[in-house]
Amino acid sequence: MIGLKIYSVPKNIEDFFEKIKSINVDTLFISKEVYSSKEFVFTLKIRKITFYCIFQVFYNPSYLKVNPSAYSITERGEKAIDEWVHFVCPSDNKYKEYLIGEVAYITEQIKPTGISLDFIRQFIFWEKVHDVSSERLIKSCKCPRCRDKSPSKEITNTVKLFSSFIKKSQPDCIIGLHSVPWKEGEFNNGLLEIAGQDLNKLGSYVDFISPMCYSHMLKKEPNWINQVVKDHKNRSQISVIPAVQVKECYLSNKLNKSELKEIIIESIKKPSGGIILWSWDYIVDSEIYNWLNVEFRDLFFDI
Ligand SMILES: [Zn+2]
Repeated sequence: MIGLKIYSVPKNIEDFFEKIKSINVDTLFISKEVYSSKEFVFTLKIRKITFYCIFQVFYNPSYLKVNPSAYSITERGEKAIDEWVHFVCPSDNKYKEYLIGEVAYITEQIKPTGISLDFIRQFIFWEKVHDVSSERLIKSCKCPRCRDKSPSKEITNTVKLFSSFIKKSQPDCIIGLHSVPWKEGEFNNGLLEIAGQDLNKLGSYVDFISPMCYSHMLKKEPNWINQVVKDHKNRSQISVIPAVQVKECYLSNKLNKSELKEIIIESIKKPSGGIILWSWDYIVDSEIYNWLNVEFRDLFFDI
């Protein structure tokens, strides 16, 4: 798979499809804003493009604005808010019922190739965690409903709930899950104990795992990507397809051409099932498109 995440509808849809074809992208991961565009979805179907709807689960600031009692609560007793990151409590059944309605809309009306479950974890702004002493490494949800449960219990239950609903509603729908890119033991076993993503169990409910291997913002070398892929594969026993960052984000130092080339090379090394570029919004109208289209062309031949 050579995938691409896209978060806003391209201004010129035909031009967009020509451009992604030229860089060998064969699968799109589209946000709610994009799959809400009837014109865009219609074009995807006409062109028979493989596409996944990115479905955001416990990250939902607009819902929380109207339903503030649904906030996840951290071990410091505060609402789960860190800059733009606002999380719902994973035991909130009313919220999960509401989400099932949203999933039903996707499987019944859009019928995508697949659904990519995003933010299906406990609250953590992991993109800004660089070492184990980070103040961001706090546990949640510690509301009265969740207090005595392990961090992963309701996350696993929610994945199971959505997975069985999706497979019943649209049996051919492929399910992916976005994971926090932490290896076993890292950050005091943070993937399990803080993010609540128990890959050993989740591998039974989804078809592939996509760790968000945004190496540059995490201050990691590109070869770290392959280590995360191996770790996630060992734990989940299913296909692992890393999502990678193509442009700098949160940090001011530039992600240059040679680093991006290394990132791509490391992403597609075995046992990876492909690569997902994050995101078109960074590639369009930038020199990165030219790198992918001309200078890195040969890299994709083996996928
Ligand atoms: Zn809770």
